[in-house]
Amino acid sequence: MITLALSKGRIFEETLPLLEKAGIVPSEDPEKSRKLIIGTNRADVQIIIVRATDVPTYVQHGAADLGVAGKDVLIEHSGVGLYQPLDLAIAKCRLCVAAPEGFDYASAVKQGARLRIATKYVNSAREHFANRGVHVDLIKLYGSMELAPLVGLADAIVDLVSTGSTLRANKLVEVEEICEISSRLVVNQAALKMKYEALQPILDVFTQAVAGETVEN
Ligand code: ATP
Ligand code: MG
Repeated sequence: MITLALSKGRIFEETLPLLEKAGIVPSEDPEKSRKLIIGTNRADVQIIIVRATDVPTYVQHGAADLGVAGKDVLIEHSGVGLYQPLDLAIAKCRLCVAAPEGFDYASAVKQGARLRIATKYVNSAREHFANRGVHVDLIKLYGSMELAPLVGLADAIVDLVSTGSTLRANKLVEVEEICEISSRLVVNQAALKMKYEALQPILDVFTQAVAGETVEN
């Protein structure tokens, strides 16, 4: 049995076309079903539905053989025991620093002010501000980072942005891009050896699909 770990929402949706190219079709829609283990048209392939941040953990421990996780999640996770062979070029967005419209971020940085930064991405944020020589106090949050500057919890946030509409709705502006984000395939290293014959064809199809090639069966 091959177990694939996916999160609901954009990762599941955007992985579907790749799976289909590999001849794998889930038998249920996780948005409609409450099941956490979903079968597929292939008796030897199942999908487990986990939180986006938990995908690397399931794969690392071998509870899933492979999974799809955002680079944002992978940077925050240790990554030990995880093979990351492929950027799937899906769920694209960017990690950035955002601040309230009226906050002069550039001046604050120039003056060497100590900034309070709210984020879910503490490792990425710590590294970014250390590289720039900006002094920060990091405040760990688990969601809705946009709220923090509005109620005085933080001066700015580090968060993912795609269209920027959530920032705009909360009168925040992007002041610095940290890095571009997309989702990667992650594979359990031991599983890749033990289940090579079953896993490698899936990896090959994904690789070709991402490269835009057509695959012959
Ligand atoms: P939840 O939103 O349920 O709290 P989550 O934020 O962990 O959970 P998603 O919002 O589905 O889960 O995000 C999953 C992955 O998709 C993220 O880890 C990131 O790589 C990517 N992602 C997040 N936000 C966006 C976005 N606005 N546009 C494109 N990709 C995104
Ligand atoms: Mg989200």
